Amino acid sequence: MERTLVLIKPDGVKRGLIGKILTATKDSAKKHYSEHEGKDFFEELINYVTEGKMCAMILMGEKAVDAARKINGDKDPIKAELASIRGEFTLDKTHNLVHASDSSENAEREITIWFPELTCSSEHTCDEKYKGTVDLFAKINGPLINV
Ligand code: GDP
Ligand code: MG
Repeated sequence: MERTLVLIKPDGVKRGLIGKILTATKDSAKKHYSEHEGKDFFEELINYVTEGKMCAMILMGEKAVDAARKINGDKDPIKAELASIRGEFTLDKTHNLVHASDSSENAEREITIWFPELTCSSEHTCDEKYKGTVDLFAKINGPLINV
């Protein structure tokens, strides 16, 4: 068994290859978690995700939705596989470190919240049918990471 140290060097950070560092506003957080509005944990969840900085990234690849959720693990720390991020590090039902979209439709919706600069709008020239969706090829050197 050995350990290794990984550093993302300044050019990697500068080029956004680790994703985007952001602080969520209550508004963005509520939009992101709109499906949970009204549930008893909603307020705690919004306070949690707005309490500090987050790193947002878009991963692309075969079955990216399922792959990312598998790596994250179940939201219930008891059910999360031990080798998953949540299985290993989750402290309680709220503080579970990571998010990953649960479907490609939700991924598109969520990406427009955190990466509005990638979203086709009337300001940009883009095909009418892509308006309001994410143009994944607009900034290929930005936060997109192939997995
Ligand atoms: P996810 O897609 O696996 O993150 O799970 P959900 O979409 O169901 O829930 C979103 C987030 O709300 C979770 O990641 C938790 O942070 C939080 N959450 C979900 N269910 C509960 C719950 O029963 N109690 C508490 N305290 N938090 C919850
Ligand atoms: Mg979810």
